Amino acid sequence: MVMYDLIEKKRYGKELSKEEISFIVNGYTLGQITDAQMSSFLMAVTIHSMTDKETYFLTKCMQNSGESIHLGLKAVDKHSTGGVSDTTTLIITPILACLNVLVAKMSGRSLGFTGGTIDKLEVFPGYIASQNLLNFKKLIKQVGCSIVSQSAQLAPADKLIYALRDKTATVDSIPLIASSVMSKKLACGASIILLDVKYGSGAFMKKKSDAINLAKLMVKIGKMDGKEVFAIVSNMNVPLDSGIGCVDEVKCALDILKGNNTTSKLAKLSKQLVKLLYEAYTGIHDKDIMQKIEEVIHSGKAIEKLAQMIECQGGDASYVMHTELMPHSKYTIEWKSDKAGYVHHIDAYKIAKVVQHLKSMNISNELKPTQGLKLTVDVGSRVNANQILCYIHTNSKNNLDDIIKELESAFVIKKSRPREQKLIAKVIR
Ligand code: URA
Repeated sequence: MVMYDLIEKKRYGKELSKEEISFIVNGYTLGQITDAQMSSFLMAVTIHSMTDKETYFLTKCMQNSGESIHLGLKAVDKHSTGGVSDTTTLIITPILACLNVLVAKMSGRSLGFTGGTIDKLEVFPGYIASQNLLNFKKLIKQVGCSIVSQSAQLAPADKLIYALRDKTATVDSIPLIASSVMSKKLACGASIILLDVKYGSGAFMKKKSDAINLAKLMVKIGKMDGKEVFAIVSNMNVPLDSGIGCVDEVKCALDILKGNNTTSKLAKLSKQLVKLLYEAYTGIHDKDIMQKIEEVIHSGKAIEKLAQMIECQGGDASYVMHTELMPHSKYTIEWKSDKAGYVHHIDAYKIAKVVQHLKSMNISNELKPTQGLKLTVDVGSRVNANQILCYIHTNSKNNLDDIIKELESAFVIKKSRPREQKLIAKVIR
């Protein structure tokens, strides 16, 4: 086979065979296919797309470029395509474990403007995210759940191809995203996988229809592989909760696990994810499941389970009950509304960019990013002129004028009440 011919074939929109896709992925991983050739192949895919069969073959080739984990036990995994103030993993993992649903979760770090679960868990001093397979299995059996970082041996071809996509404007291709995500998910070893595919300004997929197509394709790939994979498509136009930034987000997750916040979008979304995973794991449509979730939270079991998981992975869990001890930024600055009305919109992407900006002003080189925002209002809140809209947590007062301008552009306040937006647009099975 010759790479030139395969690029040309895709350039004319033709379907590639399993052998041809394998030749491309293996050749690139081994350094026998150049970046220039691979870039042009990826661009041809981005323009002409791939059939479901091609996407499945690409997924499997990337998965098989590394190790696949065999847990030898029934466990669930949840994957979010990335959001803003999205700590659902920290919330649902201990709740599910309390409901006797085993959770085997491999998570990533922050990607672009979206947060990463591992960075958030490392707010707890000593937390060891990198665990070998033996320990991972032991933790799941002992605690009921474990959240670890993805090993470098997981789909290494995806890592190489993703880095090239990032440089060649070929990231936002639905078959390339689907195969990239699923190559890692299929390698992770969980028997039941729930994908939370986000759409909106604070998501990878800006359009709901694209998110639905991506979700359908990933579910199809899972099924082709004989795995139980299903997805929700959820709204990511507005931050899911009031804290944005590592420390602020962890505090929000702890609040929900302690039963102190039952109304935020994050609390509602997390409970729906637990319900769906519980039903998939047990095969029972329990009409009392929401009540059971509340019991696990309000009895203190869920927060204790999180503390146990952190401790069993070497972390100091004292922050779990004592959030006042958590590291904090040097300055807390109030930002106030200049008019009265209803909060119509809080743009998730713009808010995430403000936090990225605050982090870039990091002067102390701290390990745990304490910079962030704490919103005091949500979409639909009635506000008065001069009312505080958020607290800015920062370690530097340089560029504060720019930060305020960015915040002003993220908030829309109008005289009329906004319409409520649906949180979960679709469940795809
Ligand atoms: N996340 C991934 O792992 N891969 C993509 O292509 C996009 C998001």
